[in-house]
Amino acid sequence: MEFDKSYFLNLAKNLFLTPSPSGYCHNIMDKIENYAKDLNLEFTKTNKGNAIITLNGQNKDYVIGLSSHVDTLGLMVRSVNSDGTLKLVTIGGNQSNSLIGEYCTIFTRDNKKYSGTILTTSYSSHVFKDATKKGADFEELIVRIDELVKSAKDVEELGIKNGDFISIDPKTTILENGFIKSRHIDDKISVAIVFTLIKALIDNNITPKNTIRFIVSTYEEVGHGASHIPSDIKELIAVDMGCIGKDLACTETDVSICAKDSSGPYDYFMTNRLIDIAKTEKLNYAVDIYPFYGSDASAALRAGNNIKAALIGPGVHASHGMERTHYDACLASMKLLFSYLTK
Ligand SMILES: [Zn+2]
Repeated sequence: MEFDKSYFLNLAKNLFLTPSPSGYCHNIMDKIENYAKDLNLEFTKTNKGNAIITLNGQNKDYVIGLSSHVDTLGLMVRSVNSDGTLKLVTIGGNQSNSLIGEYCTIFTRDNKKYSGTILTTSYSSHVFKDATKKGADFEELIVRIDELVKSAKDVEELGIKNGDFISIDPKTTILENGFIKSRHIDDKISVAIVFTLIKALIDNNITPKNTIRFIVSTYEEVGHGASHIPSDIKELIAVDMGCIGKDLACTETDVSICAKDSSGPYDYFMTNRLIDIAKTEKLNYAVDIYPFYGSDASAALRAGNNIKAALIGPGVHASHGMERTHYDACLASMKLLFSYLTK
């Protein structure tokens, strides 16, 4: 099966460059809707703002859900400091020290946006003796707004207020040798993987065995992304980043099959079948246990959905920091899902 690499990379890049911290996903969801409509797919949006995209299968009575989340880590204005900088609070599990020096965008609730830079409270080594020691805590981070502001009142006049969303510059870089570097590869890359897979099915006139409902979720990074799913889903595969590091087997060229994460083991039979396919198809793959991780599938199980669930996705290095993966891991993920859905 051929997958459209340039469609995949363009879509991934477009998603990386569209800010969507958890709770601020309305703009990116409009793009998701357009991508679904371009492929003539049935698109609905839930009250909460998740997308449900449907591709009918030969058997319409057995429905397989695929979920990927389009929301990302982000920040929020906690308060305005008297010197015109901003205090921050994290949205999701940011690594505070990876944010030092990053550019960001502040979105006011009346649709203005301002650029800024994330710094520590000891922002200059010529002035602060402890300049190299700060940033391990969000209390020690501030945003310097790129406007002539010297006081809280100046900031207020810009319209920036407590509770405004802040997105972090993704620094997206796609290299010729297949490496994909960006923030928020988790989990925008998987949204691009599933769209490219569905496009391959359509382009090749292949009807999957069972109906597929592709859930593009929001609020995953804060724990309840796909807690609500369509009631006809029998099996749910969360397509989300695979962990790398320590004694884990996965690399940036592998599709990772997660046997267990912090929420417990995934479904025995689905996981076995995924491993069997990866073996038979000779895919680059790894089976791992993720020490600190929960997925959309675990959120769906916790919410009481009567489903079997599994978790797979491309290996992502330095997750929730400066992430990197490789096209080969994405391709292996597409191939694994393709076989699972068609054979
Ligand atoms: Zn994720």
